[in-house]
Amino acid sequence: MVLLEYKRCARCGRLLHVSKFHKNASQPDGLQMHCKECERIATREWQAKVKNRKAIKHMAQKMFDGEIPLNYTTAMELIRKVKDM
Ligand SMILES: [Zn+2]
Repeated sequence: MVLLEYKRCARCGRLLHVSKFHKNASQPDGLQMHCKECERIATREWQAKVKNRKAIKHMAQKMFDGEIPLNYTTAMELIRKVKDM
């Protein structure tokens, strides 16, 4: 195995020192494809998405339970939002 000192991040495209990448044994070079900084951002985005999805599901449940009057446009909007995730 060739040990490279620098690796290009697949997300931000920057050429960074290998210390900026987390290790990943399943990758050929033993490192993650994305730099630590990008992974941090991705994790935060993912967490926000999950939180958002929970809020949408909660609202959809309320609608189906009859707590919120079921409106076709609102229902379709919710379905579209959930599908986008
Ligand atoms: Zn990056």
